[in-house]
Amino acid sequence: MERLQKVIAQAGITSRRKAEGLITSGKVYVNGSKVTELGTKVDPSNDEVVVDGVPINKEEPVYFLLYKPASVISAVSDEFDRKVVTDYIPTEQRIYPIGRLDYDTSGLLLLTNDGDFANLLMHPKYKIKKTYIAKVEGMPLRENVKKLERGITLEDGKTAPAQVKVTKSDKKKNTSIVEITIHEGKNRQVRRMLEAIGHPVLKLKREQYAFLHLRGLNAGEFRELKPHEVKQLR
Ligand code: URA
Repeated sequence: MERLQKVIAQAGITSRRKAEGLITSGKVYVNGSKVTELGTKVDPSNDEVVVDGVPINKEEPVYFLLYKPASVISAVSDEFDRKVVTDYIPTEQRIYPIGRLDYDTSGLLLLTNDGDFANLLMHPKYKIKKTYIAKVEGMPLRENVKKLERGITLEDGKTAPAQVKVTKSDKKKNTSIVEITIHEGKNRQVRRMLEAIGHPVLKLKREQYAFLHLRGLNAGEFRELKPHEVKQLR
C-alpha cells in the first residue's frame, strides 16, 4: 500500500505537492469514491485512481539514458515536426526528458515516466553536477577562467562557482576545448558563461550527469538505467 499522493506523482501527472492539492480539492476518486484525505493508502496495482476524471496510468516506471544528438528538441512533441528526444527511444510508456538540453547541444539526457523522480532530480536543492565539454572561440586566459570559478554575473544573477579546465587549444584555428562542471540549470547557462568571458561556444556536449556518463554510447543511442543507478540518484 502506498500514499495516494505518491501514487499520483509516480504516474507522472504532477509533483507530489500538487497531487496533494488535487486530493484536498476533491479531484481524486479511488474505486469510485471521492478521497480528500491526504495520506490515504492505496494499492497501486489494484485500486482504480481517477484524477480529474482521467484514470492514472498504472505504468511501470522506466528510466533511460539517451545520448542526445545535436539538432533535436528536448521535448515529447514539436509543433514544427522536428526531431524530439523521445523519437530515439521505442517504448509504450509515456516518457519525457528530465530537464532539457538546448536544440544545438548534444549529450547525456535522462528520460522517465516517473514524475516523482523527475521532480526530485530537477529540484535545485539536489545540486546535481553536470559536466560539459565546450569547443570555444579563442584561448581563454587564466584570469578569465578564474572568473567562472568564482561565479560570474549574468543578466539573471550570479552563477555558483564552476569547475573549469581548458584541456586543449588550437592556435592555428584559434579554438579551445573547455571542460566545465556546474550544478545549476539556468537557461543556456554554459553558453552564456563562456560568452561572458569573451569565448563564444561553437559546440557543446553534456558528458556527465551526477555519476552517469556517456561511455559506450554513440549519438542517438540509449540504454536503460540500472536499478542501482536509479537508487543512487534518489
Ligand atoms: N548550458 C547550455 O548553455 N546549454 C545546454 O544545453 C545545457 C547547459
